Amino acid sequence: MKKHPFILVVDDSKSSQLLIKKYLSSEPYNLVFADSGKQALAKARSNTFDLILLDIELPDLNGFETCRSLKKEPHNAATPIIFVTIYGDGKNIVKGFEVGGADFINKPFSKEELKIRIKTQLDLKQALKDLMVAKEKAEQSEKLKMAFLSNMSHEIRTPMNSIIGFAELLTDESLTKEEKEEFISIIISSGQQLLKIIDEILTVSKQEAGEIKLIDQNIDLNKLLSEIKTAHTKLIKDKPVELYLSIPEGNNPMIVGDKVRIKQIFDNLLSNANKFTNRGFIEFGYQLSDKNPEKIKFYVRDSGIGIPENKQSTIFDRFAQVEDYMTRNYHGTGLGLSIVKNLVELMGGTIHLESEEGKGSIFWIEIPYRPAKTTKQTKLTRETPFKIQHIVADWHDKTILIVDDFEQIYYFFEEALRKTGARLLYAHDGVEALEQYNEHAEEVDLALIDIQMPRMNGIDLCKAIREQGGKIPLIAQTGLALNINKADALKAGFDTIIYKPIEISTLQKVLEKYLNNG
Ligand code: ADP
Repeated sequence: MKKHPFILVVDDSKSSQLLIKKYLSSEPYNLVFADSGKQALAKARSNTFDLILLDIELPDLNGFETCRSLKKEPHNAATPIIFVTIYGDGKNIVKGFEVGGADFINKPFSKEELKIRIKTQLDLKQALKDLMVAKEKAEQSEKLKMAFLSNMSHEIRTPMNSIIGFAELLTDESLTKEEKEEFISIIISSGQQLLKIIDEILTVSKQEAGEIKLIDQNIDLNKLLSEIKTAHTKLIKDKPVELYLSIPEGNNPMIVGDKVRIKQIFDNLLSNANKFTNRGFIEFGYQLSDKNPEKIKFYVRDSGIGIPENKQSTIFDRFAQVEDYMTRNYHGTGLGLSIVKNLVELMGGTIHLESEEGKGSIFWIEIPYRPAKTTKQTKLTRETPFKIQHIVADWHDKTILIVDDFEQIYYFFEEALRKTGARLLYAHDGVEALEQYNEHAEEVDLALIDIQMPRMNGIDLCKAIREQGGKIPLIAQTGLALNINKADALKAGFDTIIYKPIEISTLQKVLEKYLNNG
């Protein structure tokens, strides 16, 4: 919402103040009044005004002195000051402009003159502000382009050097077979690196020209994602990083979409995740929710270096990279995420990022869910029969709280525990879980808690329950096998931890141990 201009009126005459107030009553201005120069300065010290109407004849400081001092206040230095006076002769006018005034209004003045002079100054001020913003944007974009060009020349030269250098070395006849093979493989991977850069530049220019058209086809989503996983598993080399594909239990959707472009989105996000993750995990997959059946939510999550908060809003801009191009540790053109964002928007979707520096990132992509009209379609519903074993036990008198942001996990537990008769409560995140827990504190016998969740994570939830005296068994269940170990979980107050994918036999053992003892 546009804010109403804030105007300071400095005049020692109450009747003049009243007149100005009356004349401007139809305008959307917030008026503040001061009776003297000193009072005006005091008000200007704690407020930023959009305009100041200043009388010249004042009891303490005169208008010129007041104007000079006002111009020294940093947050009012650019505020236009209009002198309102009966002394509007040539000499005073020159002096008024010299001390920084923007205009003069001679008393007596008409309502129309007062309004139009104020409007002119406000418009000018706004135009100046717009110009400054445009200038800053232009400078920023120029800077980005320069950074891009320098970066690009480096990105192209590096593989080019390898290609030329190793091709030359290959002419040496004394090379062993292994050496030759190694050099050839360097040449091939450098060539692929160059090809990737060229592809990115071509995609961006096509996107700019609006030439990318999506081609709809039926996609077996799980199959496509498995293929993507296989390709990327090969790319994660020589580092302790696990790649997980997380498909919601019981789902095998056939969807309509552009397979090549969906793959391109995942390829970009997964190669970034790989590039910026040195240890831990990369997990990708999708979620379908009964609450929002119109959408499918894809995600790529990693335990990598993360993205500082102040860079998160610009990271999808072209050429934007967290690191300064002069001191970069990572290769790249800075185009990948802008390509991804553009493709997602072309699909009618949105992308957003959650990230914490040093901890990792998660990219969420939400696009319209368009099921294909084939018989293979099996969208998840609560009624979907799961082909999972059932736990056999009698827990009719037990209540278990399941806390997990993946709703499908809840359905998994619901199905696994169906025959036990246990009553299940469900919460999407820590905050919701704490509410549920407090509401049913007397009844809940055990809670199964995911570690990574929005709003309040599992560790904090566990601590909160313990702090308020909750003694029930709390079991951590997590997919982040490499991120949290049993000792961490126990330290936070959990009784034990189980890892996803959860095996029914493990679940049964753990539940038997903690439920039957209670
Ligand atoms: P590029 O990877 O070629 O530099 P992108 O547009 O794909 O360009 O990414 C822009 C920047 O965003 C990267 O340079 C990096 O600073 C940051 N970034 C992207 N993905 C991740 C991630 N998963 N973890 C940490 N930083 C990331």
